[in-house]
Amino acid sequence: MKKEEYDFCPLYAKNKKCHDMEKLNCYLCACPNFRFDDEGIQKINTKTQYSLCDIKSKDGRQGVYGEKIHQDCSKCGVPHHQDYVKKHFDLDWKKIMQKCLL
Ligand code: SF4
Repeated sequence: MKKEEYDFCPLYAKNKKCHDMEKLNCYLCACPNFRFDDEGIQKINTKTQYSLCDIKSKDGRQGVYGEKIHQDCSKCGVPHHQDYVKKHFDLDWKKIMQKCLL
């Protein structure tokens, strides 16, 4: 990806990675387990949750930013492992989304 699709990610030009993984696969950069709703998913006490992890990855967490709660995937490498990508990636993005909704 870095060599052939150099403009896919701004981190390529900085020679940086989003996760500290030796073999980081970018094909599912937009993790199929990430759920987001602009209107808010639910209220938790006084705060609004806007995103979450559908598989409740043990390496993800919910971050609180003022009155907003967002899924923090910074420590999770689930969608970046080659085996995961081989199992879930498809050139037809709609097929990936259909798997997510099953
Ligand atoms: S925590 Fe991991 S599996 Fe869950 S949405 Fe984030 S990157 Fe995907």
